[in-house]
Amino acid sequence: GVEIAITISELLSLLEKYHLKPDKKLGQNFLIDENIVRKIINLAGIDQKEVLEIGSGPGTLTAFLSQKAKKVFAVEIDKKILNVLKEVCQNLSNVEIINEDFLELDVKKLTIDQKLCVVGNLPYYVTSQILFRLFEERDYIESFTIMVQKEVAQRLLAKPGSKDYGILTVAINFYCKIEDYFHVSKNVFYPRPEVDSTVLKASFKEDIPDIDERKFFRIVHACFSTRRKTILNSLSNSLEIEKAEVKNILNKACLQENLRAEDLDLEHFIKLYNELENRI
Ligand code: SAM
Repeated sequence: GVEIAITISELLSLLEKYHLKPDKKLGQNFLIDENIVRKIINLAGIDQKEVLEIGSGPGTLTAFLSQKAKKVFAVEIDKKILNVLKEVCQNLSNVEIINEDFLELDVKKLTIDQKLCVVGNLPYYVTSQILFRLFEERDYIESFTIMVQKEVAQRLLAKPGSKDYGILTVAINFYCKIEDYFHVSKNVFYPRPEVDSTVLKASFKEDIPDIDERKFFRIVHACFSTRRKTILNSLSNSLEIEKAEVKNILNKACLQENLRAEDLDLEHFIKLYNELENRI
């Protein structure tokens, strides 16, 4: 395709032109490596798709997305960096810039005739909130391809029994199938962040369990409330149910009472939910 990427020197001169310094509080670490940008785009699989980009910043990724996608909604919260984004996207007719906080965005309003593919080099200070927002908006989203801190990716990818396995792991497994991922060095950003990153693609499951999610996650939180205690103790303390009754419930769910939350996979949590839902 046409080379419309902005290079590191162009990025720096654009930042200078508008008297901008990357804003740490907004998680502004900009991608400056074209190969990584291409890898993200390939993983995302956005040919002819409608794309929502979270945190477009100066538009490095946006410009590439625009080449392949049918339409790109470029969401960016920062008014200052918007000047650069507008300049970079001025001749890209399929890019629509939206100056909003993604957490407040009405995603449904943007869907035209297909579900959206979400792509983003995420601002790390709000990663979990963004993830939970994506889960909430799943009716309008096909998949999401996101750059996150490597530590967060390890939690998303964790297997039961490992120290990284937790609420976030259960949540992503509840809603999504992780398609693929790759790690990225901190050297591909300006300014360079403290930690390495991971790009990960997830798509929403067709068969998300049809249960009361609020209750389900109350149970998951209760189990993880005291990570080192047994689920018998955690559930009893956290949900204020007599131990004898919790024992009975665990028994019916075919779960041993000395298990810890990190030992339970999604199926186990669902069994537990089925036995507990009428009790909470
Ligand atoms: N996409 C650019 C890139 O890859 O170089 C910038 C990525 S930078 C890690 C994250 C961007 O998200 C920043 O431009 C930041 O201003 C923006 N941002 C931070 N919080 C946001 C929010 N709540 N909603 C939308 N954008 C946000």
